[in-house]
Amino acid sequence: MTSGKSENIFDNIQRLPVNFEEHKFNDWIVKYTKSHILHSQCNTSHHCKENPHDVCQYCLYNNTLELPHLPEMVFPNNVLTVKHDSGVQFEFNALDALKPVKNSSMALKVAYADVWKESRDPNFLEEKFKPFDWTFSTDYKGTVSGDVVVTQTEERIDIEKLKQKEKILFYHELMLFEDELHDNGIASCTVKIRVMPSSFFILLRYFLRVDNVMVRVNDTRVYHEFNTNHILREYTSRESGFRDIKLPLPMFGDPNLLSPHLPLRNAINEKFTFKIKSEQTKQEIDNKVDDPHTEGATSNKMEEM
Ligand SMILES: [Zn+2]
Repeated sequence: MTSGKSENIFDNIQRLPVNFEEHKFNDWIVKYTKSHILHSQCNTSHHCKENPHDVCQYCLYNNTLELPHLPEMVFPNNVLTVKHDSGVQFEFNALDALKPVKNSSMALKVAYADVWKESRDPNFLEEKFKPFDWTFSTDYKGTVSGDVVVTQTEERIDIEKLKQKEKILFYHELMLFEDELHDNGIASCTVKIRVMPSSFFILLRYFLRVDNVMVRVNDTRVYHEFNTNHILREYTSRESGFRDIKLPLPMFGDPNLLSPHLPLRNAINEKFTFKIKSEQTKQEIDNKVDDPHTEGATSNKMEEM
């Protein structure tokens, strides 16, 4: 593990929040940036009109997404990337996460209309039933680039292996967007990464709770064992009406606890295969031995991350 460019600059300024880190783990560079939320208006409208290809972030989001409004909190600079020597890259960012949000259909209205109507006053109802998905539901699975072959796979991420005690070399969590649905619940999208000596694991999660109506958890898990030439990506969408699951109320606030109880609605299992650099790497795979369990920071306390 080597330190990022930020370290030298910030060595003497301990209190400054870290908003950038870059580390190399084997053939991978793991990097994140983070910063303030998206401004609520354009402050350079003249410039943005004159230069459509060099607009501010507010205009970029509004022009790209064409939604009636954005989530209350959007973090345009919160970006996680993992990049392999071969050029293959997995990136997680808020703009791409919001692109799948539908600006015309209203799936929730159909599925949970009765419960929804019972629990809302008519004024709120009317406002909320504008023809776009105000839950910001997304099936975003990350932004993949580079020379990679994608196939459906029967292989699964070895969750038991992830639960084993293994030293955590790096951990970080980023919020991509969040909206409190006018105090009627929450819609949030977060991404977490942890890197261990043998592998890295990323969990991208969209979580929706419409109070007293329904909950939805869309998870994307990305897993790579170092010195192999592939990445496994598992997407699951789980969802339930409040009435269909009998659980203590506090559990509805915690997607980690809630998720295992929600019926699976959709699952996509993919394998991303890429070229590894040298014969030497292949040799290493053949000779690979499991890393002994290590004391110190361990992963068993973070089963869901
Ligand atoms: Zn602008």
